Order: sequence, then C-alpha cells, then structure tokens
Amino acid sequence: MNQRVELIGLSQPELVAFVETLGEPAYRGRQIFAALQHRRLRSFDEMTDLPKELRARLNEVAQASSLQIESRYLSSDGTRRYLMKTRDNLPVETVFIPEEHRDTICFSSQSGCPLQCTFCLTAQLGLLRSLTPGEIVEQIIIALNDAYGTGVKPPRGTNLVGMGAGEPFLNFDSLLKALRIMADPNGLHIVPNRVTISTAGIVPRILDLANVFDRPHLAISLAAPTDALRNELMPINKRWPLEELLNACKVFEHSLKPGERFTFEYVMLDGVNDSDEHARQLANLLNRHGLRAKVNLIPHNPAEPLPYQPSRAERVTRFKDILEAKGIHVYVRRPRGRDIFAACGQLAARHETLNAGRSLLSEVAT
Ligand code: SAH
Repeated sequence: MNQRVELIGLSQPELVAFVETLGEPAYRGRQIFAALQHRRLRSFDEMTDLPKELRARLNEVAQASSLQIESRYLSSDGTRRYLMKTRDNLPVETVFIPEEHRDTICFSSQSGCPLQCTFCLTAQLGLLRSLTPGEIVEQIIIALNDAYGTGVKPPRGTNLVGMGAGEPFLNFDSLLKALRIMADPNGLHIVPNRVTISTAGIVPRILDLANVFDRPHLAISLAAPTDALRNELMPINKRWPLEELLNACKVFEHSLKPGERFTFEYVMLDGVNDSDEHARQLANLLNRHGLRAKVNLIPHNPAEPLPYQPSRAERVTRFKDILEAKGIHVYVRRPRGRDIFAACGQLAARHETLNAGRSLLSEVAT
C-alpha cells in the first residue's frame, strides 16, 4: 500500500510522464495536476471529470493525499494549528496565521527535528523523519481548504514560512521540489518570492541556496552574538560557528535583489541573551561583516519544560534601541497562537491547548 505513487509530490511534467506509464494521454496528467494543486482535491473519487475506470486504476497504483488531519486548534487571535499524521503515523504540524493584508502559512519540513536548540520544544521529539515533497505541499493545501473551502481562491495573498518543525536545510532537495511544485501557475501558484525559509545555520546549504534560480527568501536563527553562548543554545554552532556562518551570509548577500534583505532571527530569553552587552556584541558582529540584514527579535514562547522565560517588554525595547543606534534594522515579532501551542518553538505534536480544550475546533479519530 505504501508503494503507491504520491501524486501530490509530482511536478506537472512528472505527472504527465506518470499517466503515460498507465497508457493515458498527456492531457490527463495536466488534468490531475490541476485537480490536486489548483482545485485542491484530496481524493481521486472527487475528480468526477476523470473516467471511472481511470479513477479506479489511480486508487490502486497512486495516492492523492498523504496526510490525515488529527486535530485542529483555534487561537483567540485567529491563528489555527493543525496536527496531522503521515501514512506511517508520524506527527506533522502546520500553522495558519491570518493577517490584515495576507495570510501566512508556517509549514514543517521534518517530523520532529534533529537539532537540539535548548529553547525549542520541537527538539524534544528528536528527528522522526524528513517529509516528502508531497507532505510539504499538502500542508498548504489542507490549511487553505480549511480556511476558505476546498479549492476556493484565497481572498488575500498567501505567504509561506518554512519555520515549523524541523530544519529545512537538512531536507533541502525535497524542500526545493515542493517550492517548485507550489510555484506552478497551474497549481497553487505561490511563487518563491512569497516564501521565507529559516535555517539554524547549515552553512553548505546557505551557499547552495545563493545559486538557486528563483529562490525563496532566507532567514537565519542566531539567538546569540558569541560562539560561547550560541554553542550552548544551538549546538549546531559547534559544527558551523558564527564566523563561518556569517561568511556564508556574506556570500549569500551577493544573490540579493535590489532592496531585498535577509533576516536574522533572535529569540529573546530573559537574563540569558538579552543584556545591553549582548545587543552591542550583536550589532558589532553584523556590522563587522557588513551585512545588509535585518534583525527580528522574537520574544521567547515559553513552554514547559523549557527552562526559559521571555524577556520583559522594556528589555526588548532597550535591546532594539541599542541595535538601531548602531544602524541595524530591527523588528519585534508579535507572538501568535501561543494559547494553542502554535507559536515559534512550541510545535511538539501537543494534543492540548493552554486554555484546556476551549479552542479545540475538532478532533478526528485516527
Ligand atoms: N530549524 C529552523 C526552522 C524552525 S525554528 C530554524 O532553526 O530556523 C523557527 C524559528 O523559531 C527560529 O528562528 C527559532 O529560533 C525560533 N524559536 C524556536 N523556539 C522558540 C521559542 N521557544 N520561542 C520563540 N522562538 C523560538
């Protein structure tokens, strides 16, 4: 059963080639691609414009969907979190964040995560496995269908952020394939310019991304301005320390379009990385490398049993002021969906909400 071809992870030309192996004409491949990616149908039985025999054959040899929704949670701020399961029963989480002028969907690249960042709850799952291109694409399809109805065109633009569970750059090929499929104008038509991928700092892939034609935007999780502290908070720093990371960023910078900047994310942990001295060190580090970057300060989203608290608001403001005084562009990220374990660093396949079930939209038995 698991041998069936996952059609949602195929590009349009691949789908054409696949239907040809079944003795079908090329236009059927294009038709199925549009049914999956544009009409966002998740079963062959719904594709009633295909001949019955073809639908039956497809049900034998292929699969139209790979994920099943297990639960969905609604935050008081409108954010939704989906807890889904792969066919081999592994958790996948996706967050839908409505904003005034656009929606942002935060997708996962892996089930669990192999990195051991001490401030992130996902780390506690360990790596279960990397997701397939189809499992990445389907997260977006599920979120859009749930928000607007199957196949309904979203009223606002859709931005994607690869900031859910997992390290996207440890699943690089599947990630890029998923992005190419989603960019297809005959499908979801979400172009790379609307996508930001966040990495903990896998240096060789940062260099690779710089050479990708039509690439997504890049964000880098920094969390500390010195190797000593970053080694502690993000052990991946021992493999690729700050100097190497920022040198790779400098190379990446050459691929930026006019006006484009890349982002450093800095999670603010009370009393750990948020002092005036840390702010000065951070500004000096970025300025020394002459990087055209902006810094996003993310107040820590606390979650048991993580040993941190978010920095106080005055601390965040002071930190921001110090960076700005040294010429750095800074934004403070407003946390979304904390009450349903949907905020950054809170994805750990939790079956509950902080407000005890009030915001559980539905639970589907598996
Ligand atoms: N592995 C990738 C993408 C996932 S994390 C990466 O590390 O970038 C997405 C963002 O959430 C990162 O910037 C990370 O630093 C941040 N984050 C992780 N745990 C957090 C927490 N508890 N509170 C706030 N932000 C957190």
